[in-house]
Amino acid sequence: MPSTAPLLLLDVDGPLNPFATRLRRRPRGYTTYRFKPADWVRRHAPLPAEEVSWLRVWLRTEHGRQLTALPYELVWATTWMHDANTHIAPALGLPDLPVIEWAELFVPGPDGTHWKSRHIVEWARGRPFAWVDDGITDHDRRYVAAHHDGPALLHWVSPRRGLRPKDFAALRSWALRQRG
Ligand SMILES: [Mg+2]
Repeated sequence: MPSTAPLLLLDVDGPLNPFATRLRRRPRGYTTYRFKPADWVRRHAPLPAEEVSWLRVWLRTEHGRQLTALPYELVWATTWMHDANTHIAPALGLPDLPVIEWAELFVPGPDGTHWKSRHIVEWARGRPFAWVDDGITDHDRRYVAAHHDGPALLHWVSPRRGLRPKDFAALRSWALRQRG
């Protein structure tokens, strides 16, 4: 993609890993993975790594192909940070992607916004972006409209369903509209 393509800021838990499915069952078409990411282990210090529980993740292989087919530059916008490149990207057949490195995690933003919102606006520096996350609310839409000097799509995905064809269609049509 040329660098004029909008950014696709991608969350993992929710859009790619539908952790909140009904009855907590693996959804059809998904594969179960168990990872012990380095940052996850570090957050449990001083607990030794072997005592830290594995993270169960459901991933849908075809999401990798569907994401790379979108007219965007993909960027990880997830608490997984670089661990997304270590664990999630290979499982989906994605290349190493740029990572938004949060200075802090889970610290609520102003005006009821998601903790990621203000960091995303800062990181994007006015560049057009679509943000895909299961934590987006209208507070975030208002905040981004007021503080981001460029087009933005805040696209909520259900953590019960993960990314579906209609989400890819919405992302594609928004990007195409930006080209005018
Ligand atoms: Mg999430």
